[in-house]
Amino acid sequence: MNFIRLRKNDLCIEKISANILAKKYETPFYCYSLSQLKNNFYSFNNAFRAIKPLICFSIKSNSNIALLKELKKMGSGADVVSAGELLRAIKAGINVKKIVFSGVGKTEKEIKLAIKNRVLLINMESENEAILINKISNKLSKITTVGIRLNPNISPKTHKKISTGGKNDKFGLNYNDLINLCRKIKNLKNLKLDGLSVHIGSQITSVKPFKQVLTMVDKIITKTKIDFKYIDLGGGIGISYSNKEKKFDLSQYAKLVSKFIKKNQTQIIFEPGRFIVGNTSVLISKVIYIKKNSNKYFIVLDAGMNNLMRPALYEAYHKIIPLKKNNNRIKGNIEFVGPICESSDKFLSQRNFPKIKEGDYVAITDVGAYGTVLASNYNMRPKIAEILVSGSKHKLIKKRQSLENLVNN
Ligand code: PLP
Repeated sequence: MNFIRLRKNDLCIEKISANILAKKYETPFYCYSLSQLKNNFYSFNNAFRAIKPLICFSIKSNSNIALLKELKKMGSGADVVSAGELLRAIKAGINVKKIVFSGVGKTEKEIKLAIKNRVLLINMESENEAILINKISNKLSKITTVGIRLNPNISPKTHKKISTGGKNDKFGLNYNDLINLCRKIKNLKNLKLDGLSVHIGSQITSVKPFKQVLTMVDKIITKTKIDFKYIDLGGGIGISYSNKEKKFDLSQYAKLVSKFIKKNQTQIIFEPGRFIVGNTSVLISKVIYIKKNSNKYFIVLDAGMNNLMRPALYEAYHKIIPLKKNNNRIKGNIEFVGPICESSDKFLSQRNFPKIKEGDYVAITDVGAYGTVLASNYNMRPKIAEILVSGSKHKLIKKRQSLENLVNN
């Protein structure tokens, strides 16, 4: 179901015309649909209802506190990778027994914080990390529940910069090292090994790599004879950014996990990010200039790569649509660019676009995941506002950073 869509020729966020919002709030700004967020969370939950998973929303994909509070109300836990994310999850009211702490480079300070807050699992990524967690737990006289992260050497068939489960990636332990650590962990008396976790990458559009992962996890359970209380299958489920992408078959994935659960009785954890928030938001931006050089039109927006980094970082595709669609078209090569002094500050190249003029607004679509969280102050530009729409109501959920704040800090 789509809550951000064209109605006649007018882009609407739920029941509000985006053009009206663009006149009310200073552009550029992120604009979310609450109904879309709920729709995504409940569809995920529903697809897996037979196995009653714990859904730990991956905060790295979007850490806006208002959205986290909404997700908490829906029953979500959190997957965090830093002290900041952990404290943000707690601040949003998420129960610490629904928080998993992942990440390849947790510092001593972060480990202490996670132990003191008694999170559900700290997912360890190396033997040295296990030794450090054990030492800190011992000092604090605590037994810490931990998971161990597998690097299965399975290709997720996604962009190389968002692949995390290959043998050359820094994440997790390979099969042999993981089996060895499972044995050695018995000597680390302040650790309780409750979980096995794996996350092979993001924007995965086929169920096949997940099937391979489940086969390997099953093999590890047989080999180690450990009844892991939790199997954490990470996130990674892809969404459709363009009409060309294959839609991920969630029901097929659910069937595979159900089959796995019948054999290995355990609590499944998922850490979805993109699937939950990806299509909940558009970035609304104003056309500042249209300039033509010899062979193309540059449409210069007031949003730049500091506001949305994904196209520059991952060559990611985000469709751009005018807030008010004109049936006449600009014909030729068109490039949507930002104001930043980098040639990579480019959102999209395409041929033909509905006629548009300076001062008009456009929406860069599907920016809810890895949008705001990757934003920076590059070129000394302030972080922008975030707006949440619910039905015909809208509210500011993050204030635009003031120039004063930017300049003085
Ligand atoms: N879990 C871990 C450990 C991750 O590194 C990530 C993202 O890279 C996620 C979950 C969320 O992935 P996605 O947004 O693709 O669902």
